[in-house]
Amino acid sequence: MKQLLILSGKGGTGKTTIASSFIRLAKSKQFADCDVEAPNLHLMYKKGSKDSKPYYGLKKAFIDQDVCVECGLCKDHCRFNAITDDDGYKVNPFKCEGCGVCGYVCPANAIDFQQSTDGSIDLYQDNYRFSTGSLKMGSGNSGLLVSEVKKQLQDSEGLTIIDGPPGIGCPVIASMSGVDFILVVTEPSMSGFSDMKRMIETIRKTKTPLAVCINKYDINKDISNNIKDYLYENNINFIGELPFDKEVNNLINQSISLVDTDNPVGVEIKNIYKQVIDLM
Ligand code: SF4
Ligand code: SF4
Repeated sequence: MKQLLILSGKGGTGKTTIASSFIRLAKSKQFADCDVEAPNLHLMYKKGSKDSKPYYGLKKAFIDQDVCVECGLCKDHCRFNAITDDDGYKVNPFKCEGCGVCGYVCPANAIDFQQSTDGSIDLYQDNYRFSTGSLKMGSGNSGLLVSEVKKQLQDSEGLTIIDGPPGIGCPVIASMSGVDFILVVTEPSMSGFSDMKRMIETIRKTKTPLAVCINKYDINKDISNNIKDYLYENNINFIGELPFDKEVNNLINQSISLVDTDNPVGVEIKNIYKQVIDLM
């Protein structure tokens, strides 16, 4: 099984549009959406059976009010400000990181740690296998959930395509494990350029081969040229640029794949796909 991961340093750069187009072009039998904080590949691929299981993150602290002697040590030692004392000592589950310090310092043994459901791990099966997951709002540990989503992938013929999480944090690192190639999608803005550079630095540490394409390159051609200069100077594959086209959103809203049309963005996605396959 060969795995292609598609990443962008930030959200909204067209990463999922490219991933879904590649899935179609590759006639991929297996793919995954690792953007667990805002998954949306399932909007296009949700046929067939769906299996869901709960995702348990780290255990959270709970204070037994009947046992608590109100010494305040837990609140003083919680570095995440997760404990309040307005109406007895209580833990805010959205702030608790499950570090365990409060339980360690409590003299009354009043703090227990309980498993909480932080999201779901989902698998759609039709004539393809589609692994995805979704994190509950306010829950942490998305990197662990990304690893669970990837564990559902099996050895299979052909190309497995993974729509990665945005950013460069823990979930992105988790999504990189074991992949054969990474395509970075960037956009010509100051933040897009800066995020792309940080992303490339992170990928280079893993020694995974990579290439970069620019989405909506024509909204700021100066920055696009700066991005291309940077890639050339750093010996990184630049494999294409997609124009801005108002028609794209209309097509996507009608669930029409860009690569099934003669839209210039779809045509360029096909070119980029061919180059990725050649580089892999
Ligand atoms: S487990 Fe850690 S983060 Fe959670 S309430 Fe206790 S000290 Fe705070
Ligand atoms: S450390 Fe224990 S006893 Fe003290 S306030 Fe916190 S829960 Fe209550």
